[in-house]
Amino acid sequence: MDRTHLLNELWEYQLKFGYISEKAISRISKKLKVSIVEVESVTTFYHFFHQKPTGKFIVYLNNSIISDIKGHEAVKAAFEKETGSTFNEYGDNEFSLFDTSCIGMSDQEPAALINFQPFTDLTPKKVKGIIDSLKNDENVKDIASKTKSKIQYHPEGDKAIIFRSYEMGKSIREGIKYSPDEIVDKISKAKLLGLGGAFFPVGYKWNSCKNNEADTKYIICNADEGEPGTFKDRALLQYLPGLVIEGMVLAGYATGAKEGIIYLRAEYQYFKKRLEGLLEEFRKTKLLGKDILGVKDFDFDIRIQLGAGSYVCGAASALIESLEGRRGEPPVRTWSATKHGFRHKPTVVNNVETLAYASRIIELGEDHFLSLGTEESPGTKLISISGDVAKPGIYEIEYGTPIIDMLGIEMSQATSPYFIQVSGPSGECINNTEFNRRICKEDIMCGGSFMVFNRTRDLLNILRNFMEFFKEESCGVCTPCRAGNYILNEKVKKMQRGLASQEDIKEIKQWGNIIKLSSRCGLGKSSPNSLIYAVEKFKDYFNLKIPPTNEFLNVEFDMQDAVQEFDSFIKDTQPELDK
Ligand code: SF4
Repeated sequence: MDRTHLLNELWEYQLKFGYISEKAISRISKKLKVSIVEVESVTTFYHFFHQKPTGKFIVYLNNSIISDIKGHEAVKAAFEKETGSTFNEYGDNEFSLFDTSCIGMSDQEPAALINFQPFTDLTPKKVKGIIDSLKNDENVKDIASKTKSKIQYHPEGDKAIIFRSYEMGKSIREGIKYSPDEIVDKISKAKLLGLGGAFFPVGYKWNSCKNNEADTKYIICNADEGEPGTFKDRALLQYLPGLVIEGMVLAGYATGAKEGIIYLRAEYQYFKKRLEGLLEEFRKTKLLGKDILGVKDFDFDIRIQLGAGSYVCGAASALIESLEGRRGEPPVRTWSATKHGFRHKPTVVNNVETLAYASRIIELGEDHFLSLGTEESPGTKLISISGDVAKPGIYEIEYGTPIIDMLGIEMSQATSPYFIQVSGPSGECINNTEFNRRICKEDIMCGGSFMVFNRTRDLLNILRNFMEFFKEESCGVCTPCRAGNYILNEKVKKMQRGLASQEDIKEIKQWGNIIKLSSRCGLGKSSPNSLIYAVEKFKDYFNLKIPPTNEFLNVEFDMQDAVQEFDSFIKDTQPELDK
């Protein structure tokens, strides 16, 4: 056993004892032959590993902006009242409460995980009922919500690529009619882009992995969707997991990889067993394992690796570090994963949605895919719409769809939309002069999160939530990201207190650019986006909040003068005090 088993070992202790003790760390260190310091450093990196004892029930309440606008504060207070515990404090209560970032339930907020079971659409009354039931020894699983994302088909009928009927094994059966080269060719011709947010051409990635000779290669499914506001990958894994598995098998066939790993975010572990059951069914029907569908030497199998709570692990390089049993800190890389990836072997990392589309392209043919969408971004895209809309859910849209249509009566039915955040906090905001913009490569791409806010929402509150998120999630290895996001967050707080000047707006832009230019990974490079775009696109709002000059703030502060003034004050008042 080597250190790639480290996360699993830590999970075993965490789930069994509620925390990872010093003794446990020492045992794991001996078992995996990894130093105690290293095991400890991995343990402290991940959000869901605790080093202090927790109660019988661990509650993680989502504090994302969508949760916030749907009543998070009242629900948080209810949890504290009903359990007698305080958030983010360890104690000897049987309930331990913690804040957490988006748990992939933005269509059903406020939501929480209790012992990693989902509880959605929470209200103070509902919280009381849940806590009473738990105190009465009811089973957590039995009282958990049945998550029920609404899946909306758009365009209707035949044009849907993902949300159409599914037949187990159909794309693999279709795929083996072609050679691996032809499969790569089909994916390339379809111009499929990686849908985890980077939009890298998938055919290029598969081709590069195929061409790199090695005894072992890997296909990794990135199921660590953590961008606040997105929940499409969860829905895919719950409703159409077979499509994702088949995409992995086809990627293995095309590249020569024989091993697949689904890196499943810890927040989604409540359906891990169901996924494992499906993998077993695939094995039984010869769709996984040795000589798949009777094709000699076409061997491929998949295992699931649970993450442990870290947004940055959604980045491929950090995800690989995590799989190798390290802190999920993105390394400085001068090579691509398709050459030196997991265990330094050629590796394809594709996200859940990308693999589902790859599977459909092989099943339906690249021409079907190319007949939809735009020149540069053919096909359709899954979008998670949440916020101030009557119909939150997952929408399959054709690339090129205008934002106004997504807000309209046929789709999400937004109410007085004012501020739209496309692609989550790391993306771009849209104001109401831009609703005719289209979701496509020629205009604005969307990774999947589409959050709508109406006029009653406080823009600074939204931006502060985003900056708090990045401040928390920065892994801290590079200074611009670690310190810069802290500074930007302080700037937003200063604006909220009414103490900011136009100088702060200038500094936001300067700091934002420094962070973007000098950070190591995608988190830092995109974290200032929401703030930079907002101050540009909502100038009227910021001009109202921040006067053009602020006389009080422009008074120069002289420390020496202040000290002298204080000394003379003491001298003057001391005799009075001595009386
Ligand atoms: Fe870590 Fe931020 Fe640097 Fe990325 S940019 S490596 S998250 S500190």
